[in-house]
Amino acid sequence: EDDAALLTGWDDEDADLPDAPVPPVLAIVGRPNVGKSTLVNRIIGRREAVVEDVPGVTRDRVSYDAEWNARAFTVVDTGGWEHDAKGIHARVAEQAELAVDVADAVLLVVDATVGMTATDEAVVSMLRRKDRPVIVAANKVDDLMQEAEAAQLWSLGFGYPYPVSAVHGRGVGDLLDAVLEELPQESAHGGLMPRGGPRRIALVGRPNVGKSSLLNRLAGSDRVVVDDLAGTTRDPVDELVELGGQLWRFVDTAGIRRRQHMAHGSDYYASLRTAAALDRAEVAVVLLEAPQVISEQDVRIVQMALDSGRALVLAYNKWDEVDEDRRHSLEKEIDRDLAHVAWAPRVNISAKTGWHKDRLVPALETAIDSWETRIPTGKLNAFLGELVAAHPHPVRGGKQPRILFATQASSRPPKFVLFTTGFLDPGYRRFITRRLRETFGFEGTPIEIGMRVRE
Ligand code: GDP
Ligand code: GDP
Repeated sequence: EDDAALLTGWDDEDADLPDAPVPPVLAIVGRPNVGKSTLVNRIIGRREAVVEDVPGVTRDRVSYDAEWNARAFTVVDTGGWEHDAKGIHARVAEQAELAVDVADAVLLVVDATVGMTATDEAVVSMLRRKDRPVIVAANKVDDLMQEAEAAQLWSLGFGYPYPVSAVHGRGVGDLLDAVLEELPQESAHGGLMPRGGPRRIALVGRPNVGKSSLLNRLAGSDRVVVDDLAGTTRDPVDELVELGGQLWRFVDTAGIRRRQHMAHGSDYYASLRTAAALDRAEVAVVLLEAPQVISEQDVRIVQMALDSGRALVLAYNKWDEVDEDRRHSLEKEIDRDLAHVAWAPRVNISAKTGWHKDRLVPALETAIDSWETRIPTGKLNAFLGELVAAHPHPVRGGKQPRILFATQASSRPPKFVLFTTGFLDPGYRRFITRRLRETFGFEGTPIEIGMRVRE
């Protein structure tokens, strides 16, 4: 039997593809209810952007891959907002501004049946300050009769207002032709909007470690988008935050900010929140409190992060409260407490003063890179061959299990499968895990080793 054949289809060695050009980015902006989500669905040709008023559903992405006339581009949807927020005009414009900054062109959506409102005006005046090309979509023009209303939008000074019906698809083709004329071949601002959308971070930790403080510190006062799609306070709210020249998505930040109301609530609900946030994230930042001894709840949250299989960064907050002469011994205590996650990058920070906040992004990047690592099968087996030759498995009952070969079955996080002739001792598996880490890094990611015993 050909073992190698068994592996085909598993092995994915395209991790080393050269960087492709980043497709141009189109930002869709406009006030609530003009039909942005409906139009996005039209453009991307699938029901992927969730249209408002679907209760309990959260849009998990803010950017989508689109194609028209064989040209690829990325659509950035600005999503929802807090309907009850004070100063809604300003917030909508603020949110739109962030999308515009990452975009190569802007599609301004206006409800032609309503005409210009104060909120529309706020968005328009923001757009006038920017140097991005703007295309106007006069939406909800469901039939010819309504086209006259669209024509009024000439007055905006952004050229021809394209009459469209996002619901029926009417006029969308012409609109996209116009959009493509304005889009460059390649994004000029691709750095800020990562391919596949912003990375998703779960910021978790027990009450009072400083999660909201850190979030506020990182987000600053304005560069924040609240994506409250379903418009009910129960649903997860994410925030887009620009850090280190890229957008990141902090998932379920409502759960963090609303903590005050939950302060007396049970551990149980806090755990549910944590689990839900981890579930939607790619990387977890577990926040701990430097001046305090590690609590049972801290340990449990670290364990939840481990069990979730997400990339992991540990952040020790309130370092400003640690005395100079205490620092060294504290580091040692932390090493001891967290020996089982020694592979996770650790940053010491202070949300209060902002000290070391710049260290978070490199740690996140390292962890995510490791999480997505793929070791080519050839390299993996060469490594194992050497390791086994130098340190063979101990003989058990006259038998010595052998490793026939290995493959990385998946990533995010990396999972390896060893094909063996017998069960490997747990100790020997731990030894392999340790050597895998020493050789390939994997800083910030859990790794898993499975076995397939063959005769
Ligand atoms: P958003 O808040 O800007 O994303 O708007 P939505 O896409 O959620 O749409 C708001 C409402 O307008 C929904 O009830 C849509 O069904 C409706 N709508 C969207 N596009 C059209 C359209 O072209 N014609 C009509 N008649 N209704 C539309
Ligand atoms: P959360 O429950 O995890 O969201 O924690 P909060 O952000 O509400 O912070 C809890 C308390 O710790 C507040 O009184 C904060 O002012 C305080 N705090 C947060 N970060 C720091 C820090 O870095 N240093 C100090 N000294 N206090 C902090």
